[in-house]
Amino acid sequence: MLGEGGIPVMGAPARFLPRQLPFVESTPETGDVTTFRFSTRQEPFAWRAGQFLEMKFPDLVDPRGPTRLFTISSSPTETGSLTISTKMSGSPFKQRLRTLRAGELVDITAPDGDFVLEPGRPAVMLAGGVGITPFRSMLRYATDARIEKPLILIYSNRTPEDIVFRKELDELVRRNHSIQIIHTITRPAESKEAWKGHVGHVDGELLRTAIRGVRHPLFYLAGPPGLVQADRKVLLQEIHLSEGDLRIDEFEGY
Ligand SMILES: Cc1cc2nc3c(=O)[nH]c(=O)nc-3n(C[C@H](O)[C@H](O)[C@H](O)COP(=O)(O)OP(=O)(O)OC[C@H]3O[C@@H](n4cnc5c(N)ncnc54)[C@H](O)[C@@H]3O)c2cc1C
Repeated sequence: MLGEGGIPVMGAPARFLPRQLPFVESTPETGDVTTFRFSTRQEPFAWRAGQFLEMKFPDLVDPRGPTRLFTISSSPTETGSLTISTKMSGSPFKQRLRTLRAGELVDITAPDGDFVLEPGRPAVMLAGGVGITPFRSMLRYATDARIEKPLILIYSNRTPEDIVFRKELDELVRRNHSIQIIHTITRPAESKEAWKGHVGHVDGELLRTAIRGVRHPLFYLAGPPGLVQADRKVLLQEIHLSEGDLRIDEFEGY
Protein backbone atom coordinates (compact mmCIF):
# COMPACT_ATOMS: atom_id res chain seq x y z
CA MET A 1 0.00 0.00 0.00
CA LEU A 2 1.32 3.43 -0.95
CA GLY A 3 0.79 6.57 1.10
CA GLU A 4 0.65 10.03 -0.36
CA GLY A 5 3.78 10.77 -2.35
CA GLY A 6 4.18 7.09 -3.22
CA ILE A 7 5.86 6.26 0.09
CA PRO A 8 5.04 2.69 1.18
CA VAL A 9 3.07 2.42 4.42
CA MET A 10 3.65 -1.34 4.55
CA GLY A 11 0.03 -2.42 4.39
CA ALA A 12 -2.77 -1.45 6.71
CA PRO A 13 -1.49 -2.56 10.11
CA ALA A 14 -3.74 -4.52 12.44
CA ARG A 15 -5.52 -2.17 14.80
CA PHE A 16 -3.88 -1.86 18.18
CA LEU A 17 -1.19 -4.43 17.69
CA PRO A 18 0.74 -4.60 20.99
CA ARG A 19 4.54 -4.22 21.00
CA GLN A 20 7.30 -3.46 23.42
CA LEU A 21 9.63 -0.75 22.21
CA PRO A 22 12.89 0.20 23.94
CA PHE A 23 13.07 3.74 25.29
CA VAL A 24 16.02 5.66 23.79
CA GLU A 25 16.10 9.21 25.16
CA SER A 26 14.07 12.23 26.16
CA THR A 27 14.59 15.77 24.94
CA PRO A 28 13.12 18.87 26.55
CA GLU A 29 11.28 21.08 24.07
CA THR A 30 9.90 24.51 24.94
CA GLY A 31 7.97 25.14 28.16
CA ASP A 32 6.80 21.95 29.83
CA VAL A 33 6.78 19.80 26.69
CA THR A 34 9.22 16.87 26.45
CA THR A 35 9.85 14.51 23.52
CA PHE A 36 10.39 10.80 24.21
CA ARG A 37 12.08 8.60 21.60
CA PHE A 38 11.57 4.83 21.22
CA SER A 39 13.54 2.52 18.97
CA THR A 40 11.71 0.68 16.18
CA ARG A 41 14.84 -1.15 14.94
CA GLN A 42 13.90 -4.53 16.43
CA GLU A 43 10.13 -4.15 15.93
CA PRO A 44 9.24 -2.71 12.51
CA PHE A 45 6.44 -0.27 13.09
CA ALA A 46 4.31 1.24 10.31
CA TRP A 47 2.10 4.25 10.77
CA ARG A 48 0.73 7.20 8.86
CA ALA A 49 1.68 10.75 9.74
CA GLY A 50 -0.95 12.10 12.15
CA GLN A 51 -1.89 8.79 13.78
CA PHE A 52 -1.72 8.10 17.51
CA LEU A 53 -0.59 5.22 19.72
CA GLU A 54 -1.55 3.94 23.14
CA MET A 55 1.12 3.65 25.80
CA LYS A 56 0.70 1.51 28.88
CA PHE A 57 2.58 0.88 32.12
CA PRO A 58 0.67 -2.23 33.33
CA ASP A 59 1.85 -2.01 36.95
CA LEU A 60 1.18 1.73 37.32
CA VAL A 61 -1.23 3.02 39.94
CA ASP A 62 -2.75 6.20 38.52
CA PRO A 63 -6.24 7.68 39.12
CA ARG A 64 -6.76 7.84 35.34
CA GLY A 65 -5.44 4.37 34.76
CA PRO A 66 -2.18 2.99 33.34
CA THR A 67 -2.69 4.08 29.69
CA ARG A 68 -2.55 7.32 27.71
CA LEU A 69 -2.97 8.09 24.02
CA PHE A 70 -0.26 10.08 22.26
CA THR A 71 0.05 11.25 18.68
CA ILE A 72 3.30 10.13 17.09
CA SER A 73 5.21 13.39 16.60
CA SER A 74 7.87 11.97 14.28
CA SER A 75 7.33 11.13 10.62
CA PRO A 76 7.30 7.60 9.14
CA THR A 77 10.17 8.86 6.95
CA GLU A 78 12.37 9.25 10.05
CA THR A 79 13.20 5.57 10.26
CA GLY A 80 14.68 3.64 13.18
CA SER A 81 12.65 5.28 15.92
CA LEU A 82 9.45 7.11 16.72
CA THR A 83 8.73 9.94 19.12
CA ILE A 84 5.87 11.23 21.21
CA SER A 85 5.89 14.75 22.61
CA THR A 86 3.90 15.54 25.69
CA LYS A 87 3.17 18.22 28.22
CA MET A 88 4.65 17.04 31.49
CA SER A 89 2.43 17.09 34.57
CA GLY A 90 2.52 15.69 38.07
CA SER A 91 0.42 12.64 37.16
CA PRO A 92 1.85 9.22 38.11
CA PHE A 93 1.86 8.34 34.38
CA LYS A 94 4.05 11.30 33.48
CA GLN A 95 6.29 10.65 36.51
CA ARG A 96 6.79 7.13 35.18
CA LEU A 97 7.68 8.51 31.75
CA ARG A 98 10.12 10.95 33.36
CA THR A 99 12.03 8.14 35.07
CA LEU A 100 12.38 5.79 32.06
CA ARG A 101 15.88 4.41 31.62
CA ALA A 102 17.55 3.86 28.24
CA GLY A 103 16.75 0.38 26.93
CA GLU A 104 13.68 -0.09 29.14
CA LEU A 105 10.84 -1.73 27.22
CA VAL A 106 7.52 0.11 27.05
CA ASP A 107 4.14 -1.34 26.01
CA ILE A 108 2.90 0.47 22.94
CA THR A 109 -0.14 -0.47 20.91
CA ALA A 110 -0.55 1.32 17.67
CA PRO A 111 -1.25 2.95 15.37
CA ASP A 112 -4.77 4.25 15.02
CA GLY A 113 -6.78 7.23 13.82
CA ASP A 114 -7.87 8.74 10.52
CA PHE A 115 -6.33 12.13 11.26
CA VAL A 116 -4.06 11.77 8.24
CA LEU A 117 -3.31 13.71 5.07
CA GLU A 118 -5.86 13.07 2.36
CA PRO A 119 -4.44 12.69 -1.15
CA GLY A 120 -4.99 15.71 -3.34
CA ARG A 121 -6.75 18.15 -1.06
CA PRO A 122 -4.79 21.10 0.34
CA ALA A 123 -4.58 21.02 4.14
CA VAL A 124 -5.20 23.81 6.62
CA MET A 125 -3.97 22.79 10.06
CA LEU A 126 -5.04 24.52 13.25
CA ALA A 127 -2.97 23.72 16.32
CA GLY A 128 -2.82 24.99 19.86
CA GLY A 129 0.14 24.30 22.15
CA VAL A 130 0.99 20.59 22.32
CA GLY A 131 -1.62 20.03 19.57
CA ILE A 132 1.24 20.59 17.12
CA THR A 133 2.29 16.89 17.38
CA PRO A 134 0.32 15.48 14.40
CA PHE A 135 1.28 18.47 12.26
CA ARG A 136 4.99 18.15 13.03
CA SER A 137 4.65 14.59 11.72
CA MET A 138 2.56 15.50 8.66
CA LEU A 139 4.71 18.48 7.62
CA ARG A 140 7.92 16.52 7.98
CA TYR A 141 6.39 13.63 6.05
CA ALA A 142 5.09 15.90 3.27
CA THR A 143 8.52 17.49 2.96
CA ASP A 144 10.44 14.21 2.84
CA ALA A 145 7.88 12.67 0.44
CA ARG A 146 7.93 15.83 -1.72
CA ILE A 147 4.18 16.29 -1.60
CA GLU A 148 3.34 19.42 -3.48
CA LYS A 149 0.07 20.95 -2.40
CA PRO A 150 -0.71 23.89 -0.14
CA LEU A 151 -0.12 23.02 3.52
CA ILE A 152 -1.05 25.88 5.82
CA LEU A 153 -0.42 25.67 9.56
CA ILE A 154 -2.00 28.20 11.92
CA TYR A 155 -0.32 27.67 15.26
CA SER A 156 -1.61 29.36 18.39
CA ASN A 157 0.40 29.77 21.59
CA ARG A 158 0.31 32.07 24.60
CA THR A 159 3.82 33.44 24.07
CA PRO A 160 6.53 32.94 21.42
CA GLU A 161 8.51 31.01 24.05
CA ASP A 162 5.73 28.41 24.11
CA ILE A 163 6.02 27.56 20.38
CA VAL A 164 6.96 23.88 20.25
CA PHE A 165 9.36 22.74 17.44
CA ARG A 166 9.88 26.39 16.44
CA LYS A 167 13.29 25.86 14.80
CA GLU A 168 12.15 22.67 13.06
CA LEU A 169 9.02 24.35 11.72
CA ASP A 170 11.12 27.24 10.35
CA GLU A 171 13.43 24.71 8.73
CA LEU A 172 10.51 22.86 7.10
CA VAL A 173 9.23 26.14 5.61
CA ARG A 174 12.71 26.71 4.14
CA ARG A 175 12.83 23.18 2.70
CA ASN A 176 9.27 22.99 1.39
CA HIS A 177 7.74 25.93 -0.44
CA SER A 178 4.28 24.36 -0.23
CA ILE A 179 4.27 25.00 3.53
CA GLN A 180 3.07 28.25 5.03
CA ILE A 181 3.06 28.77 8.80
CA ILE A 182 1.21 31.53 10.61
CA HIS A 183 1.95 31.83 14.32
CA THR A 184 -0.56 33.64 16.46
CA ILE A 185 0.27 34.68 20.03
CA THR A 186 -2.52 35.24 22.55
CA ARG A 187 -0.54 36.78 25.45
CA PRO A 188 2.33 38.74 23.90
CA ALA A 189 2.65 40.95 27.00
CA GLU A 190 3.85 37.91 28.98
CA SER A 191 6.79 37.39 26.61
CA LYS A 192 10.34 38.73 26.76
CA GLU A 193 10.42 38.57 22.95
CA ALA A 194 9.13 41.59 21.03
CA TRP A 195 6.50 39.79 18.93
CA LYS A 196 5.90 41.27 15.49
CA GLY A 197 3.61 38.54 14.17
CA HIS A 198 -0.12 37.92 14.44
CA VAL A 199 -1.74 38.42 17.85
CA GLY A 200 -4.96 36.96 19.33
CA HIS A 201 -7.08 33.86 19.00
CA VAL A 202 -7.90 32.34 15.62
CA ASP A 203 -10.79 34.29 14.11
CA GLY A 204 -12.64 34.56 10.81
CA GLU A 205 -10.42 37.34 9.50
CA LEU A 206 -7.20 35.41 10.11
CA LEU A 207 -8.67 32.29 8.49
CA ARG A 208 -10.02 34.12 5.44
CA THR A 209 -6.60 35.71 4.85
CA ALA A 210 -4.79 32.40 5.35
CA ILE A 211 -6.90 30.40 2.89
CA ARG A 212 -7.29 33.03 0.18
CA GLY A 213 -6.73 31.34 -3.21
CA VAL A 214 -6.59 27.81 -1.73
CA ARG A 215 -9.08 25.52 -3.47
CA HIS A 216 -11.26 23.10 -1.48
CA PRO A 217 -8.99 22.61 1.55
CA LEU A 218 -9.52 20.07 4.30
CA PHE A 219 -9.22 21.54 7.81
CA TYR A 220 -7.42 19.66 10.59
CA LEU A 221 -7.90 20.74 14.21
CA ALA A 222 -5.77 19.33 17.04
CA GLY A 223 -5.09 20.19 20.66
CA PRO A 224 -6.89 20.76 23.96
CA PRO A 225 -10.68 20.25 23.52
CA GLY A 226 -11.56 23.84 24.54
CA LEU A 227 -9.34 25.30 21.85
CA VAL A 228 -10.40 22.79 19.20
CA GLN A 229 -14.08 23.54 19.84
CA ALA A 230 -13.47 27.30 19.69
CA ASP A 231 -11.73 26.91 16.31
CA ARG A 232 -14.47 24.57 15.07
CA LYS A 233 -17.11 27.17 15.93
CA VAL A 234 -15.27 29.87 13.95
CA LEU A 235 -14.90 27.55 10.94
CA LEU A 236 -18.57 26.55 10.93
CA GLN A 237 -20.10 29.92 11.77
CA GLU A 238 -17.76 32.44 10.17
CA ILE A 239 -16.22 30.50 7.26
CA HIS A 240 -19.47 28.52 6.69
CA LEU A 241 -17.76 25.17 6.33
CA SER A 242 -19.58 21.88 6.86
CA GLU A 243 -18.49 19.15 9.29
CA GLY A 244 -17.32 17.13 6.27
CA ASP A 245 -14.55 19.68 5.69
CA LEU A 246 -13.16 19.17 9.19
CA ARG A 247 -10.95 16.50 10.79
CA ILE A 248 -10.76 16.79 14.57
CA ASP A 249 -8.30 15.32 17.07
CA GLU A 250 -9.19 16.40 20.61
CA PHE A 251 -6.46 15.74 23.16
CA GLU A 252 -8.78 14.81 26.01
CA GLY A 253 -7.02 15.21 29.35
CA TYR A 254 -6.21 18.91 28.80
C1 LIG B 1 -6.19 11.03 20.11
C2 LIG B 1 -5.39 11.67 21.23
C3 LIG B 1 -4.10 12.11 20.97
C4 LIG B 1 -3.36 12.71 21.99
N1 LIG B 1 -2.10 13.15 21.71
C5 LIG B 1 -1.38 13.75 22.67
C6 LIG B 1 -0.06 14.24 22.39
O1 LIG B 1 0.47 14.13 21.27
N2 LIG B 1 0.61 14.84 23.40
C7 LIG B 1 0.06 14.99 24.66
O2 LIG B 1 0.72 15.56 25.53
N3 LIG B 1 -1.17 14.53 24.93
C8 LIG B 1 -1.89 13.92 23.99
N4 LIG B 1 -3.15 13.45 24.30
C9 LIG B 1 -3.64 13.59 25.69
C10 LIG B 1 -3.03 12.49 26.58
O3 LIG B 1 -3.59 11.23 26.26
C11 LIG B 1 -3.26 12.76 28.09
O4 LIG B 1 -4.63 12.83 28.35
C12 LIG B 1 -2.61 14.08 28.52
O5 LIG B 1 -1.24 14.05 28.20
C13 LIG B 1 -2.80 14.32 30.04
O6 LIG B 1 -2.21 13.26 30.76
P1 LIG B 1 -1.60 13.48 32.23
O7 LIG B 1 -1.14 12.16 32.70
O8 LIG B 1 -0.62 14.62 32.22
O9 LIG B 1 -2.81 14.04 33.08
P2 LIG B 1 -3.99 13.18 33.71
O10 LIG B 1 -3.57 12.55 34.98
O11 LIG B 1 -4.50 12.28 32.67
O12 LIG B 1 -5.02 14.33 34.04
C14 LIG B 1 -5.59 15.11 32.98
C15 LIG B 1 -6.78 15.89 33.51
O13 LIG B 1 -7.78 15.02 33.95
C16 LIG B 1 -8.09 15.30 35.29
N5 LIG B 1 -8.32 14.03 35.96
C17 LIG B 1 -7.39 13.23 36.50
N6 LIG B 1 -7.95 12.13 37.03
C18 LIG B 1 -9.28 12.25 36.78
C19 LIG B 1 -10.39 11.43 37.05
N7 LIG B 1 -10.27 10.28 37.71
N8 LIG B 1 -11.59 11.84 36.61
C20 LIG B 1 -11.73 12.99 35.95
N9 LIG B 1 -10.70 13.81 35.66
C21 LIG B 1 -9.50 13.46 36.08
C22 LIG B 1 -6.89 16.02 35.86
O14 LIG B 1 -7.27 16.88 36.93
C23 LIG B 1 -6.42 16.80 34.67
O15 LIG B 1 -7.15 18.01 34.55
C24 LIG B 1 -3.92 12.86 23.29
C25 LIG B 1 -5.21 12.40 23.55
C26 LIG B 1 -5.95 11.82 22.54
C27 LIG B 1 -7.35 11.35 22.85
